[in-house]
Amino acid sequence: ESVANQIAAGEVIERPASVVKELVENSIDAGSTRIQVEVVNGGRTSIRVIDNGEGINREDVVIAFERHATSKIREATDLFSIRTLGFRGEALPSIAAVSKVTLKTRTANEKVGTLLKLEGGEIKDLRDIGMAVGTDFLVEDLFYNTPARYKYLKTTTTELSQISDIFNRIAVAEPQIAMTLIHNGRLVSRTPGTGRMLDAILSIFGRELVDNLVEVDYEENYVKVWGYVTIPTVYRSSRKHQSFYVNGRFVRSTLLSRGVSEAYYNLLPPNRHPIVFLFVKINPVHVDVNVHPAKFEIRFSRPEIVMDVVTKGIRKALQTKNY
Ligand code: ADP
Ligand code: MG
Repeated sequence: ESVANQIAAGEVIERPASVVKELVENSIDAGSTRIQVEVVNGGRTSIRVIDNGEGINREDVVIAFERHATSKIREATDLFSIRTLGFRGEALPSIAAVSKVTLKTRTANEKVGTLLKLEGGEIKDLRDIGMAVGTDFLVEDLFYNTPARYKYLKTTTTELSQISDIFNRIAVAEPQIAMTLIHNGRLVSRTPGTGRMLDAILSIFGRELVDNLVEVDYEENYVKVWGYVTIPTVYRSSRKHQSFYVNGRFVRSTLLSRGVSEAYYNLLPPNRHPIVFLFVKINPVHVDVNVHPAKFEIRFSRPEIVMDVVTKGIRKALQTKNY
């Protein structure tokens, strides 16, 4: 079972940033309004996520680390119709199998919280602890028992940049949550939790970017697209500054990128790309689910329609502003 968990862990947990993504998504699903992420040495020493969400009841704490023990949807027939971000019940057992976990958690209907310590998925300690309602999840020594995996970790700078990339993408999509990212005791990113996406973008990327954004808001053929894109005088040399979300879920999609490029055709110098934060809402039946969820890649059953709506939505937005 522990080997099975280590193997399965490889599919969900590739690096510290995957741990951050899974833990933060759990905090979001738990209804948190404040989430703090603290990483040390690019996450290889430790990753800690503290939230003020609903917490986990004492009787459910150990079960949460069993495979497929999700408290969320049970028949995950269509991942893009599910409201919560988590649905498979694989993250916690996967993380626990390849690290040392210290979980502290308390629900509103309990007087004391629970502390659970695991090493390589084995329980080392389980006891009461006084704490506020919420969850404090500490992951230490990631891949300490899987040397082959540990070897693949990159430099602290690279791992941190992956973490902050994931963190920023999630923070922009959840502006109602006050989110903080700290590395080696120093503040990296923080959002105010006002509920306004522009406030989140402002606090992460700064005034200069916000002043050069236009708002996209467009719907056609039951495909809705909204968000913010840069005016054509502001651009980057790569597409990595483009964030796409489909039905609330952060995704990668060459199709959506192409829809963006099409909208800026002839407006940008060659090989230059806008910065975009784009949200697409579409009937879940038109999203292909046979793509590995941890890789965030998706396909659409009517790609030309989705691409066209993205292009038209951006074109319309760009016409509203002089630049
Ligand atoms: P999933 O998110 O797919 O349900 P996970 O393995 O990520 O599966 O988490 C297992 C369960 O542990 C969740 O369904 C949830 O009940 C509980 N859980 C995990 N993290 C938190 C948290 N921060 N706050 C409250 N409950 C949590
Ligand atoms: Mg989860």
